[in-house]
Amino acid sequence: MPLTTQLSPEGLSMTEVLSCPTPVLQDITLDPDMDPKHDPPTSILIIGAGVFGLSTALALTKRPEFASTSITVLDRSPEPGVFPSRDASSIDSSRIIRADYADPAYAALASEAQVHWRQTDPASLGGEGRYTESGFILGADSEPLVRDNGSSTGLAYARRSWVNSMALAHKERRPLSSIRVLKNQWSIGVVSGTGGEFAYWGYLNTASGWADAEASMKWYYERVTATGRVTFVNGTAESLETNESLRRVTGARLKDGSTLSADLVVVAAGAWTPTLVDLSTQAVATGQTLGYMDITEEEQKRLEKVPVMLNVSTGLFVIPPRNRVLKIARHAYGYINPKPVSKPPLGVPGSTTPELISQPYTHLDDASLSIPADAEKVLRDGLQKIIPWPELQDRPFSRTRLCWYTDTATGDWIIDYHPYWQGLFVATGGSGHAFKFLPVIGDKVVDTITGKCPEELRRKWKWRSSNTTEIIVTEDGSRGGQPGLILEDAMRT
Ligand SMILES: Cc1cc2nc3c(=O)[nH]c(=O)nc-3n(C[C@H](O)[C@H](O)[C@H](O)COP(=O)(O)OP(=O)(O)OC[C@H]3O[C@@H](n4cnc5c(N)ncnc54)[C@H](O)[C@@H]3O)c2cc1C
Repeated sequence: MPLTTQLSPEGLSMTEVLSCPTPVLQDITLDPDMDPKHDPPTSILIIGAGVFGLSTALALTKRPEFASTSITVLDRSPEPGVFPSRDASSIDSSRIIRADYADPAYAALASEAQVHWRQTDPASLGGEGRYTESGFILGADSEPLVRDNGSSTGLAYARRSWVNSMALAHKERRPLSSIRVLKNQWSIGVVSGTGGEFAYWGYLNTASGWADAEASMKWYYERVTATGRVTFVNGTAESLETNESLRRVTGARLKDGSTLSADLVVVAAGAWTPTLVDLSTQAVATGQTLGYMDITEEEQKRLEKVPVMLNVSTGLFVIPPRNRVLKIARHAYGYINPKPVSKPPLGVPGSTTPELISQPYTHLDDASLSIPADAEKVLRDGLQKIIPWPELQDRPFSRTRLCWYTDTATGDWIIDYHPYWQGLFVATGGSGHAFKFLPVIGDKVVDTITGKCPEELRRKWKWRSSNTTEIIVTEDGSRGGQPGLILEDAMRT
């Protein structure tokens, strides 16, 4: 794996930074099959109001067994009444809504979610423009199906995704013609509607589209508040409170010194989760880059009916514009940002927690934050491939953004009880693809809390303890770029 050898500000070589100590679990008696306490807790604290946290809160309010449970959602959002915070990965102008997955389990779950997105009456999730079924071109470059290290390439991902999408169309009794193979660059250029011959092979799925992420989260937040069952608190959890002799998490200590106690703490803090719970063997925060470009009314009209376009070999994608803003982004290995933590995350007693943890750095930390110059160039070149219009070629981005994935090695989420600490549950590991599951993911979290999640999904999302010291890199075949890049180094160049 290519690693930079530059020195970090802490004086460690990047190789050392990346192989900083991870817990040694072999000497510790873990109880992986610890029987989760299925009696409903009297109080639940959910840390994080993104897709995972907010949807879990709503799902809990719908379950009769939690009718007497008090539910609190804590988020570090600095603005009262704004949940999640504006730099959460669940907040953006748009997110792709697709069941086009190489993994049939996510394809099937996404298709369940699409039923909700497609409800477009004004009172429903997909209404008032929150969901648009624009169609979606999933493309890939010409490359072998397997890389030297044995992982799949974008082309393998695209082909498997096509097979799964055809199977879903058949199951849902949609005409198979709703999915069209685009067998060369030329056909991709024609079907894109922009002339962009941005991939070597691909397909158009007319049953996929995109959502206005910010508006959808607002709709969801309003649904949760309307239940009258959930207390929202603005505040940052600095650490988890524990009772060591009982091996139990009892709540969270906030930055202002106060504590929130609960029988069950669900940590759903997105890319910040590894700063609260030691996930060093399973998840890492990676910064992803986005660019937004102002366009004219005429350009808006030309582009608003084009499909979402993604090349899974480069990771570059464009979502149709709204309000004269066009977005280009990259689904990449991303940047890691290893920094010391003020308090070590909660690990298993006796294990070594890492001194440096990759942590999000966002426009709320620094309002003038921009993306590395190299990344901006990659976005600009990608835009030119997808929309090869001379008038856009040199137009500056009106803004750029770093948005943080919580990446796992396989792209599978982590939805499970902690194997050591009772009263602690983790719901995270979105790996850059969880938004579309907003209408269904909370139910799966609650099913897992109550021990009712189907076995196939439980196995995918279970806590993974291992002694690996390798950097976590998502190798699901859908990522572009280069693994192991360090944000600080990239910012300097
Ligand atoms: C650039 C980009 C593009 C993406 N594109 C797509 C897409 O097209 N389709 C798709 O399905 N998915 C997409 N995703 C992935 C999807 O957005 C995420 O998987 C999902 O939003 C993750 O939700 P979350 O709840 O884990 O995290 P978040 O939304 O980040 O929520 C975590 C919340 O926890 C809060 N928090 C953190 N730490 C603390 C603390 N200590 N105390 C209190 N609160 C805390 C944060 O303030 C935040 O509000 C994309 C993600 C990014 C970044």
